[in-house]
Amino acid sequence: MTEDRTMPDRRIRKIVIVGGGTAGWMAAAAFRHFLDPKVVDIALVESEDIGTIGVGEATLPAIRVFNAQLGIGEAEFLRETRGAFKLGIEFRDWGTRGNRFFHGFGDFGAKYKKVAAYQLWLMLQARGETSELEDYSIAAMAARLNRFAQPHPDQRSPLAAFSYAYHFDATLYAHYLRRFAETRGVKRTNARVVDVRLNGESGFIDSVVLDNGAVIEGDFFIDCSGFAGLLIEKALQTGFEDWSRWLPCNRAVAVPSAAAEPFAPYTRATARDAGWQWRIPLQHRTGNGYVYSSKYISDDEAAATLLKNLDGPALAEPRVLKFTTGMRKKFWIKNCVAVGLASGFMEPLESISIYLIQSGIARLINLFPDSGFSPVVIDRYNAQAAFEFERIRDFLILHYHATMRDDTPFWNYCRTMSIPEPLENNMRLFRDSGRFFREAEEMFAITSWVQVMIGQHVDPKRYHPAVDLIPLEE
Ligand SMILES: Cc1cc2nc3c(=O)[nH]c(=O)nc-3n(C[C@H](O)[C@H](O)[C@H](O)COP(=O)(O)OP(=O)(O)OC[C@H]3O[C@@H](n4cnc5c(N)ncnc54)[C@H](O)[C@@H]3O)c2cc1C
Repeated sequence: MTEDRTMPDRRIRKIVIVGGGTAGWMAAAAFRHFLDPKVVDIALVESEDIGTIGVGEATLPAIRVFNAQLGIGEAEFLRETRGAFKLGIEFRDWGTRGNRFFHGFGDFGAKYKKVAAYQLWLMLQARGETSELEDYSIAAMAARLNRFAQPHPDQRSPLAAFSYAYHFDATLYAHYLRRFAETRGVKRTNARVVDVRLNGESGFIDSVVLDNGAVIEGDFFIDCSGFAGLLIEKALQTGFEDWSRWLPCNRAVAVPSAAAEPFAPYTRATARDAGWQWRIPLQHRTGNGYVYSSKYISDDEAAATLLKNLDGPALAEPRVLKFTTGMRKKFWIKNCVAVGLASGFMEPLESISIYLIQSGIARLINLFPDSGFSPVVIDRYNAQAAFEFERIRDFLILHYHATMRDDTPFWNYCRTMSIPEPLENNMRLFRDSGRFFREAEEMFAITSWVQVMIGQHVDPKRYHPAVDLIPLEE
């Protein structure tokens, strides 16, 4: 198509990002990298007085793609963020007390005659074999030995059949991305946003007003203000869909502890009486936290439980964080998109929040608007984001609901609560014959769902009938 020079210029000229946590600086770095600085200005406002949430240290393998796209090398990234490798998550005491399983990144064997390897494993179990599914996972086996290596570059090698992510210091990552973005022209202001001015006719955001009296105008506003939801909620009143009936944890108490030996290349998630505890090893310290429901335990009791269960001495006072699980009814409204905690939060189990920041940014680049802000584009963004949130939500609910634990009121609630229908249907099919289907572009692969279901005793009554068509000797 030839360019029509009589068309009005509808290009977005100025993006304003409110917030300088992981979300704000990831957005600033990515937009600066992908959008031509000769056309689009990017301004970021953050308040050092308010600060950032200061947690969020475990990731999914997708973070490697984000870094690679920005040209950030792995060695430099790990050095700057005191990062470490993560092969998956070890779950302790979830399905039953004393139970453990590993959710590793990657597969546990190749398909054989189009049948998934775990189906062959189910058949062997039915014949009395006693191996664990994770015995066939390279990631789980390496984690068990506290070892790590890069996946083999030759895809035909069994040692290529896994992936990995990172643990890192989120504050250092934000600082690193800030340097990245500022060197490339992002203009940062340290001030508190005290007002958001809306256009009298369209209701679009015209500008944000700062506590130093300055006014920052823009065409497109990215709300990265964290739980405050300064633009998306306080100014534009989008509404929030509350999921606490399914994801009942609403607080976390966090504390760093001294780095411990042996060094573990994985996250540990241990179920506790009213929630669960994370352990995230970094180079220079270990991150710890107890995620809990305030209905079932007090802050003091939760902090005492956490401090009693550390691998090394605590390095600070425990800090309590409050949240409500759920998502905004709209992620994008008018000329404002929420990214990060401003868009919703589903608690840290399975480390999905930073991934959701990344996928929000990628989606935004794919659906980047012009100043017309087409409702068709906005609707598609919102539909894709809601789908992604809901499927991840169901994966998280699975962890809580698929339990035999009835030893505390919290676990009894989770075990007996009603769950969303799609999850109910997926668990029913899996129990029937071990089958599971990944829908559209949902985040977690079949192998992830299967590891958690098997790990938490959602035991299939039988395996896929196609397995019986394969001679046993094969
Ligand atoms: C207990 C807990 C554990 C977590 N663990 C993980 C994990 O392991 N893995 C993972 O992926 N995610 C995790 N997360 C989520 C993760 O912390 C966030 O997704 C990530 O840090 C991004 O946060 P954010 O940038 O959206 O918000 P924040 O870090 O809160 O940043 C908000 C920014 O907005 C600014 N701001 C707010 N109000 C104003 C104002 N009025 N004026 C100017 N600036 C303002 C603040 O100063 C700050 O810069 C966890 C979250 C919690 C609560």
